[in-house]
Amino acid sequence: MPHRRILLKLSGEALLGDSPCGIDPTVLNRIAAEVAEVVAAGTQIALVIGGGNIFRGVGLAGAGMDRVTADQMGMLATVMNALAMQDALERIGVPTRVMSALKINQVCEDYIRRRAVAHLDAGRVALFAAGIGSPFFTTDSAASLRAIEIGADLLIKATKVDGIYSADPVTHPDAVLYPRLTYDRALRENLKVMDATAIVLCRDNQVPLRVMNIYEPGALVRAAAGEDIGSLVES
Ligand code: UDP
Repeated sequence: MPHRRILLKLSGEALLGDSPCGIDPTVLNRIAAEVAEVVAAGTQIALVIGGGNIFRGVGLAGAGMDRVTADQMGMLATVMNALAMQDALERIGVPTRVMSALKINQVCEDYIRRRAVAHLDAGRVALFAAGIGSPFFTTDSAASLRAIEIGADLLIKATKVDGIYSADPVTHPDAVLYPRLTYDRALRENLKVMDATAIVLCRDNQVPLRVMNIYEPGALVRAAAGEDIGSLVES
């Protein structure tokens, strides 16, 4: 396989489907089936899932809640999503481990890099929960950091659009898709790819980043197989 080990970042919103909040089981199961296909094809895969479908710290912090408390609640939301994906994967026979950056030992393992790599080498899907475990960060940054730590050769950011556009394709129908661009250009033009911390981490550690549409059936499997879909951000 062109990619030995990939890290997939799914936003919480990717699990929403048509629901206003929470998890759409149809969407969850479909993504799990694609992850299973990637594993069956021989690529190791780790997941970082956001929490935006349940809770984002910055929202309640804006309404007066202490930001650290709000972000801790956000991190707990990511644990719920990781557990949901673990359940969906194990129901179709894919072995998994959820590893949390916050200690919740009755529910899942702690994140320990060497153990995470061992899980991947043993054919398990590793689900990294609770972001990096610190407030004021996002799961985008967690995805970049974990991708670097585990030596992933590709970070895939799964979104609702086909890749990176010159402008928001929903509000600007004339926006053009960039099949390839540099980290510096993504930063300079403030393109809505990932937050800047995440892009800088990828740039400084040479992790290529592919942005693609998770709602397009088969796209994840094709991206993991090395197909040039969506947008690729690299040096
Ligand atoms: N969060 C955090 N530290 C982290 C990762 C996440 O505090 O390292 C909190 C933060 O409140 C964030 C929430 O968890 O809003 C959910 O993560 P994120 O917004 O990245 O989810 P996504 O937008 O990908 O669904």
